[in-house]
Amino acid sequence: MTRGDEATVDQAEWDRVKTRLKQEFGESAFKSWVTPITASVLRDGEVELTVPTRFMRDWISTHYAERIRALWNGENPHVRKVVLKVGAGARDTRLAQSRPPTPVAPPGAARVRASVVESASAKSAPALGAELSAPLDSRYVFENFVVGKPNEFAYAAAKRVAESDQVSFNPLFLYGGVGLGKTHLMHAIAWEIRQRTPTRHVVYLSAEKFMYSFVRALRNQDMVSFKEQFRSVDVLMIDDVQFISGKDSTQEEFFHTFNALVDQGRQIVLSADKSPSNLEEIGDRLRSRLSSGLVADLHPTTFELRLGILDAKAEHLGVPVPQKVKEFLAHKISSNVRELEGALTRLVAHAQLVGGALTLETAQDLLQDLLRAHDRRLTMEEIQKRVAEHFKIRVSDMSSARRSRVVARPRQVAMYLSKQLTSRSLPEIGRAFGGRDHTTVMHAVKKVEELSKSDSAFAEDVELLTRMLES
Ligand code: ADP
Ligand code: MG
Repeated sequence: MTRGDEATVDQAEWDRVKTRLKQEFGESAFKSWVTPITASVLRDGEVELTVPTRFMRDWISTHYAERIRALWNGENPHVRKVVLKVGAGARDTRLAQSRPPTPVAPPGAARVRASVVESASAKSAPALGAELSAPLDSRYVFENFVVGKPNEFAYAAAKRVAESDQVSFNPLFLYGGVGLGKTHLMHAIAWEIRQRTPTRHVVYLSAEKFMYSFVRALRNQDMVSFKEQFRSVDVLMIDDVQFISGKDSTQEEFFHTFNALVDQGRQIVLSADKSPSNLEEIGDRLRSRLSSGLVADLHPTTFELRLGILDAKAEHLGVPVPQKVKEFLAHKISSNVRELEGALTRLVAHAQLVGGALTLETAQDLLQDLLRAHDRRLTMEEIQKRVAEHFKIRVSDMSSARRSRVVARPRQVAMYLSKQLTSRSLPEIGRAFGGRDHTTVMHAVKKVEELSKSDSAFAEDVELLTRMLES
């Protein structure tokens, strides 16, 4: 005992906690993450854990701290909190408390303001930049990203790029299957940079958006201002570059933009669903350029990681979810983190609305339903709206009786896309377009297919719209 209620940690308690951790997380995770922890002081119900690096602190705090706290609390009810610090020296201010860190300031006023501050050198940048960059999701920050074996490398690389003021790896190329966290990491990088250095002009956009702006600029003969937009960018992030494949002119432009920015020492971050070498449709030149920096992949999730994500998410929702239910979800939904999250949210919402307890039985019931309901989320309204915008006509013309080519063609495109991208039947589509007959829809589909074969500009429009809507 040193003073007040400060005491040294009972090592026997800590040993028992460690034994449990080893059982729960397995030998190798235990070796990597638990063995390096030193537990020394217990103060005001807080156990202080010391780890050698910041990276470990962050990882342990998102992945293990809560479990350590809970186990320890089971051993000794006085322990209410665990605090992680780095090294033996200065006290670290970041605490791993009884819950995993909540998102750092989901972009409140300060952040929003920071994100529109553009680099002083770029006169025309604010308006263009704001238009260019897609909005960032406030939940996609590093603090909310659960790290495990499958993604630790990509995470560390993303962190590095976000934290260094100089260009680190150029480009950073993140790749992995659907729903494994590429977009999350990219947004996290953007948030972090915007927060650390608001003057750095960060532009994040999907490859579809990039192509879309590019093709529009071409059409409107506005390439000069298109290029101008990129001139002021310090960090360019393009998500899902596999969609740039196959379009020669866009690839060419992308290549030039890319080279120009790299030559000027700007940071580039890209993502794709395949590694650069497997992006078959991309030309050799661009492909080798893409792999010239650091390529980091996100592997499919493991059971342990899925469980960790569910823990974090449940904690975030502030709802106790029985371990059995989490394990069930982590077993059943293994493909994709997005679906895992969706399933949990749905269970929790159900329990809250119906008021019942969240049990394994309700989870099994609801999940059956959920696995069946793999319906497309895209609505015909959305399609009509996007298509109308694209062709600069009114949405109301989608269902109006006007037959002039200017509105009839876009309407046909929207019908075609409704057929392709939703599970609606022809009569349902007809009804959504001002009560037209299903044969009219059929005709529209044929017409669009024919035109796509004979008119390459038209085909490109349709393809762009498809990609936009699918993204
Ligand atoms: P991708 O872009 O690779 O298809 P996303 O980044 O959109 O995947 O991720 C899908 C969803 O899963 C998002 O809501 C994201 O927050 C979540 N997610 C993915 N990986 C993790 C992780 N390691 N920790 C927390 N959430 C994750
Ligand atoms: Mg994505």
